[in-house]
Formats: sequence, C-alpha cells, structure tokens
Amino acid sequence: MVKPVLVVVDDEYASLRSLAGELESRYGAHYRIVSSASAQEALARLAELRAEGARVPVILADQWLPGMTGAELLAQTREIYPTARRGLLISWGDQSAAAPIFEAATLGQLDFFLPKPAWTPDEQFHRAVTEALEGWWRQQGRRFEAITVIGEDPSARAHEIRDVLTRTSVPFGFHPRGSAEGQAALERLGVPEAAGPVVALYNGTVLVDPTYAEVAAALGVDIQPAQRTYDLAIVGAGPAGLAAAVYGASEGLSSALLEREAFGGQAGTSSLIRNYPGFPWGVGGAELALRAYQQAWLFGAHFVYGNPATSLTDEGELRVLKLQDGSEVRSRAVVIATGVAYRRLGIPELESLVGAGVFYGAATVEAQAVVGKQAFVVGGGNSAGQAALHLAKHAKHVTILVRSQSLAASMSAYLIREIDGAPNIEVRYQVDVAGGAGDGRLERLELRDQRSGQVELVPAAGLFVLIGAEPFTDWLPEAVGRDRWGFIFTGPDAGGALAQERAAFPFETSMPGIFAAGDVRHGSVKRVASAVGEGSVTIRQVHEYLALTPGR
Ligand SMILES: Cc1cc2nc3c(=O)[nH]c(=O)nc-3n(C[C@H](O)[C@H](O)[C@H](O)COP(=O)(O)OP(=O)(O)OC[C@H]3O[C@@H](n4cnc5c(N)ncnc54)[C@H](O)[C@@H]3O)c2cc1C
Repeated sequence: MVKPVLVVVDDEYASLRSLAGELESRYGAHYRIVSSASAQEALARLAELRAEGARVPVILADQWLPGMTGAELLAQTREIYPTARRGLLISWGDQSAAAPIFEAATLGQLDFFLPKPAWTPDEQFHRAVTEALEGWWRQQGRRFEAITVIGEDPSARAHEIRDVLTRTSVPFGFHPRGSAEGQAALERLGVPEAAGPVVALYNGTVLVDPTYAEVAAALGVDIQPAQRTYDLAIVGAGPAGLAAAVYGASEGLSSALLEREAFGGQAGTSSLIRNYPGFPWGVGGAELALRAYQQAWLFGAHFVYGNPATSLTDEGELRVLKLQDGSEVRSRAVVIATGVAYRRLGIPELESLVGAGVFYGAATVEAQAVVGKQAFVVGGGNSAGQAALHLAKHAKHVTILVRSQSLAASMSAYLIREIDGAPNIEVRYQVDVAGGAGDGRLERLELRDQRSGQVELVPAAGLFVLIGAEPFTDWLPEAVGRDRWGFIFTGPDAGGALAQERAAFPFETSMPGIFAAGDVRHGSVKRVASAVGEGSVTIRQVHEYLALTPGR
C-alpha cells in the first residue's frame, strides 16, 4: 500500500532538516516525509500530491515563513487536503507566536500547535504528532475490522448499525450489497439472499438484520442484569450516566449502568467537543465516551446494553426497573440520566429517506455520504454549528438553514467565527425545509423563504437535522414529577409526596431515592461538562440518601 505523506514546512534550512530527520526516524516505516522550504513550494507540492492521489494525514508549518505566515498557509491547505490535521510549529519561548495562534485557532485555521523538537527523541513533540495521526486514522475508518457490515447503501437500518458501531468505537468495515466485495462476502458467509443488513463478527458469528442487543451479545457484552440487588441503577450512559457510574463504582456502590443504544449519548455523536476542560484542541465525542466507559468498567460498574428501561416502580426500600425483555433491575437508588431525543422535521417524504441522505443528529460517519457534494444542516444551535464545520471538510458546500434572523443568541461565538471563516459554509436565515425527494436517497430539497413564501428546489446529497430535543421520560411513572415538556423536577422544585416527609436532595426527584442528572433534568445546562458534574455530584446525594434508609 502506498504510504500516506507527512508534510513539513520551514524556511530555516537547519530547522527543516532536523524536523524532517525527527519525523523520518520515528514515522518513516509507515509514512513518506515531504519537506518544503517555503509556503509556495508547499502549496505546489500538496497540489501535486493530490493529483497523484496521495493521502496526507498531517501538515506541519513553521509560523514565521517569508511571504505568508504558517497559519495562513495552513488555512489554505484546507482547500487541498480538507481532512489533514494542521499543526503550527513554534520555537520554544517565542511569545510573538501567541497572538497569531489565538487568532488562527479561533478561526478554525489550525488543529493544534506544537513546539519544535528541542532534543532527540522529543516525546512531547511526538505525542502531538501521534495524536494528530490517530485522529486522522479514526476519521478514515480504515482499521482492523472486528465486524464487517454488508447492506444496501443507502438503507436506514444499515446506517443505524454503522452509527452505533462508530459511536461505541468498534472497528468495522462496510461493504454495499451491490459491490463486488459485498457480494463476495455474502457468498462466503453463506447468506447470499439475506434480507436486511448482515453483520459478520471476527469470531465467526453471522447475524442477519440484528438488533443492537443481538450484536452486543455476540460481542460478549451483557444485555441482562445480574440476579441480585444493586446499590445503584443508572439509566442512560451519556456523560451524566457514565460519570455517575465512575463515581458510584469507585466509591464502593455496586452499580448497574443501563444503556439502550450507545454509550456516550448525544456527546458520542459529536465529531469534536471543544469546550470540555482538559482538551485544549477538542476531543471526539466517541473517544471521550470510550474513555469514560472503560473507567467505569475498571471500577466495577456492571454495564447492561441494548435493553432499555421501560418502567419504574418501588417495592418498599427497593426500586425496580423493568427492561424491554421483561427482566428486572433491583436497586436501592436510581439515577435517571436518559437525556433527550432529537426533534423530528415531520415531513413524510423526508422521514422515508432517514438514513438515506437525511440524518437526525450530528454528522460523523455520515459525512462520507456527502463527499464532494452539497450538504444542508438545519438548526442554529452549537450542535448544528459543529456538524456544519465537520461536514465542510468533506462536502463541496454546506448550507446552514436557520429559522431566526441571527445565530448570535443560539450559537457560541467561537463557532460563529469559525463558520464565518470557512470558505465553503453559507448561512441562510429565515429559511425552512418544506420537502424533498430522491430515487432511493436524498437528491433534492425544497426550501421555503419565510418572508416571501417562495419555494426553491436545490440539489442536496445530505440533510442533517439538529433542531432541539425532547426528554426520554415517557416511560416513567407519574410519581416522578416533570414539567410540561417532560423534563424532570429535582430538589426544591420536586414537590410530590416526598415533600411532605423531608426536603429532597438537590438532584432527587419527587420519588424518594430516584435522582435525575444531565439534560433530562428540568433547568439543566445541556453541556457535556455540566452533565458530568451533575452525574458525579448525584453520587454524594445517593450516599446521603442510603444512609437514611434502614435496609442499608
Ligand atoms: C451533535 C451534538 C454536539 C454537541 N456538542 C457539545 C459540545 O461541544 N459541548 C458541550 O458541552 N455539549 C455538547 N452537546 C450537548 C451534550 O452532548 C449534552 O448536553 C450531553 O450529552 C448530555 O448528557 P446526558 O448524559 O445528560 O444525556 P445524553 O447524552 O442524551 O445521554 C442519554 C443516554 O440515555 C440513553 N437512554 C435514553 N432512554 C433510555 C432508557 N429508557 N433506557 C436506557 N438508556 C436510555 C440514551 O440512549 C443516551 O445514550 C452536543 C450535543 C449534540 C447532539
């Protein structure tokens, strides 16, 4: 296989030689190193590489180049290699680079900065390069295949399976049924006529149109709870539930964590979370979720997957959650961290194309569907902004459709600046989606101008809908008080029978021993860090609650 290319640019001869040498000695076995002594030479070389069909995962440029700064060069390389990770090289102690770095990062013109290697081997330098390479490979999806999925392309069910595998960081490969590889794989697996997607596992198991639980069970993941009483059951493994599991299990509570779809929740669908403390250049939602999941598992949390909670009752001191397959989880306390679900557009012709060009939620694996084509994002919030920026690396052009007249009230300023700086993103205000169509997949959209009422037909390969969400709480009993949108009241707002006996703990609901954390809670902040904070703080209150109960 042809080696991918690492490009490094520096006009100082000695520095360029040392950088190229450092890269060659560490990465030469798997990558070709191309060095350039000027910005113009680098741009010409990148254009040649693209014409040759070479892959470029990382471009490193010194900030102080003649004629054009490194940050300006990196901004231009985006048009040639949109998915390459762009790193700005600075010399140790060069304070003058601070302002340009700040500006370029704000405009999304670079992905990271790194001091030039000061000695050999400079592991800090290599860690930055390796992380960039890891991020690029993760995005390519070309890794070891623990699972092979063969299905119609596009198809809603095949899309759902690929989405969950991506979000749970399971390495997989996908072959369209109509391709030579897809057909050969179906013959080899002995299911040439299978109806629905086929999932083949590394251990020889072959599943036809499986549920999430069937895939999980075949991978060795528990889909049923243990026959015992837990101290704590947590419903939902998004950031709030994962944090509750990490803190609960690490503090000695026997804890069951129930998840119906994919750990990480909404955060797991985010291509890049920029505002989570400790990750200055952002962290992929799936990666953050995988780390938290492994942490909870190492502390002993029992993860029960693919079997959603469908009801909640109490039996004296015990709380009983019934799961979809009829099994039960008994525990002394429960944390509800079920988050929210995306609001739908409600346009029948577009609903029939879900997974076939129409996607609810963020754009991660789906970005492949719009490579070199027109993509549309509906929504004016941060999740819509992030999706647009991610899609812009793959699509020819991205249009954000917003109902209001401005993004200022709904989107963070840093995202608005990055969108303004992206050459292939356009924002259209006061425009609705009125309809759409395509032959088996989305091909065109009808857009309606709210002011004039005029409808226009535009070509579209992808529509990504991020228009707010509703809480997952309709399975709860009435005893768990909720506001009119279904968000759960906690603490002083909780009221109910509990209020007659004692004050509720701050995250306790109106049902004693039932707590709520994260987006599902009335008044929550709807951020990853706040969900993590709520999930962990709740555990302290669970301890206090358990200390009140005689069964403990
Ligand atoms: C595309 C996108 C990008 C975002 N980017 C950012 C960002 O950059 N920064 C930021 O701070 N915030 C961001 N957010 C918001 C952030 O992801 C959420 O605030 C956060 O995930 C909320 O965490 P949570 O645990 O409360 O709920 P969720 O993440 O919604 O998780 C809830 C989990 O509960 C599960 N569940 C639901 N019902 C059941 C049931 N009955 N049984 C079992 N399991 C169930 C769901 O499957 C889900 O996994 C983003 C959101 C989206 C959609």
